[in-house]
Amino acid sequence: MITLNDFTTRWAELGDAVLATVDHVGASGYYILGQEVQQFEQALAHFSGTTFAIGVGSGLDAIEIALRAVGVGPGCSVLTTPLSAFATTLAILRCGAEPIFCDVDHSGCIDLERCSEALRRDPSITTLLPVHLYGHAVNLNRLERLSQEYGVTVVEDCAQAIGARSCGRPVGTVGRVAATSFYPTKNLGALGDGGAVLTSSEGLAKLARSLRNYGESMKYEHDLIGCNSRLDELHAAILSAVFLPRLPSWTERRREIAHRYLAEIANASISLPAVPEGSESVWHLFPILVRSGSRKDFQAHMQSCGIQTGVHYPRLIPGQKAIADDRRVRIHGRLRVASRFASDEVSLPIHPYLEESEINRVVKACNQWRPR
Ligand SMILES: *Cc1c(COP(=O)(O)O)cnc(C)c1O
Repeated sequence: MITLNDFTTRWAELGDAVLATVDHVGASGYYILGQEVQQFEQALAHFSGTTFAIGVGSGLDAIEIALRAVGVGPGCSVLTTPLSAFATTLAILRCGAEPIFCDVDHSGCIDLERCSEALRRDPSITTLLPVHLYGHAVNLNRLERLSQEYGVTVVEDCAQAIGARSCGRPVGTVGRVAATSFYPTKNLGALGDGGAVLTSSEGLAKLARSLRNYGESMKYEHDLIGCNSRLDELHAAILSAVFLPRLPSWTERRREIAHRYLAEIANASISLPAVPEGSESVWHLFPILVRSGSRKDFQAHMQSCGIQTGVHYPRLIPGQKAIADDRRVRIHGRLRVASRFASDEVSLPIHPYLEESEINRVVKACNQWRPR
């Protein structure tokens, strides 16, 4: 079976290095907010092109803390995408703010034209929360122009796109603050939960550090209503010693596989979505769109060829039950393109441990498929 991710092969290669790191941290006797977290934060900030990184407990927490750090709270409206992990919107709601959704473009990322329209029409929108979906970088030059033109604060969700660039600029550097996740399936995935806030503002970094740790300013001094969302020493050490150093070569491999799929998948019933202009994607996922109404058939075909596929995402966020009756939720215009992704998107395997023969099998299975 060709799976969407291959953690066991990674463990066979890197397990010993991880265990040596665990031994090192265990023997140090220091487990929370010590040197390992500090060192990892510096390495991650350097890698991301920001000045500061703040390790937290998850990607969800990273987005919530980032939003709170820039002052998002009750009464604020945040413009975001309906096509993402639910966490993106959940973070807005957990701040007490109101999400406004607008459509995506043909890459699946938020449509900056629609954003511009929404911002023009609704001056109450304070914040823009785009997601660099599928490992693509939303066009950062245009994003920066939008933020300047309308005076909105940009907070970037980089959970799927750490290392991606747009027009040469790394994701996470145009927003005043950004968030990422180390959930195991992400490009920089840990062996459990973790996340980070990224920023080049010293003030925001300080706020985020306080918010992740009970709102403490100094030991036993609590200036803010914070939470407990600390990245632990163990994960920080594993990420900085074993996984982060390998991220560039993993990304290189993902790009090679994406190029093969883009060049070789040829089937009139499959379309390959666009990539945002200027994006140097890191291909967290490889999305395709199958002929309308035939997703189940395609997935069953791939399954019969021994290939696992995924769907990102089968239901748009505003259609989720948890927010169905929530008066805070608004939609700008129609979500026509997002709905097409929700009904017809399929994700193909694209992890760094895929072998050439497996890539060939995925291409062949796609090209052989004829919808019923
Ligand atoms: C995974 C993900 C999150 C949430 O990260 P967790 O670490 O699972 O909380 C948020 N946004 C996007 C786009 C994601 O892919």
